[in-house]
Amino acid sequence: MDVAKDKFKQYIIQQRDLGFNELYFPAATRPLSARAVKRLDINKFRDSESLVQLEKTINTCQKCPLGKTRTRFVFGVGNPKAEIIFIGEAPGRDEDLQGEPFVGRAGKLLDKMLTEVGLRREEVYIANILKCRPPNNRDPEPSEAEECEPYLLMQIKLIKPKVICCLGRIAAQRLLQTNATLGAMRERIYDFHGVKLLVTFHPAAILRTNSYMRPAIDDLRKIIGILKES
Ligand code: URA
Repeated sequence: MDVAKDKFKQYIIQQRDLGFNELYFPAATRPLSARAVKRLDINKFRDSESLVQLEKTINTCQKCPLGKTRTRFVFGVGNPKAEIIFIGEAPGRDEDLQGEPFVGRAGKLLDKMLTEVGLRREEVYIANILKCRPPNNRDPEPSEAEECEPYLLMQIKLIKPKVICCLGRIAAQRLLQTNATLGAMRERIYDFHGVKLLVTFHPAAILRTNSYMRPAIDDLRKIIGILKES
């Protein structure tokens, strides 16, 4: 253990001496299967396909059982050239009815958080891991996320953001392919296929625990700092 700690310390000192002031953590914290690697290869999607075309192509999706129970397909919303994409878990009741992510109570809080750091909803992009609401807002099943995730990866590929911000544990665990806790994933900068990825609290968690608000705003400020530097 001490050897590992020493090596880590040496690595940090070396990075500092090389002039790096940020540390990057590989997105995959456990080895991925060949199938997963293939699925996560966002470069396989065609550049020419626009978001509008993509939505038209996929909004009748029936690849998983949620296609039968949804009211509306919730593709994503915002600036197609956004520098930052916020990624939540899945549509809830309001989102399912309106066809837009983060429009319910959690969404109103997300809007407030964006305003607090000087961002407007229209200038960022907002999407979810799942495009359809799981009944009773249960957690996404791995099989549902597996079917749906390529759509999100295509969106990322088309938008070409500078930063991805995962809202909450479920989105982060899914994209980072890990079972780590939210606490372990926050305050790090990951590299997701060349895009910086950070993790913060889900607005619904902040609604339940007000004290998460301050650190979440700090996370957003850090993201703005990264955007300004890049
Ligand atoms: N929670 C999410 O994760 N996504 C939404 O769109 C709404 C609530």
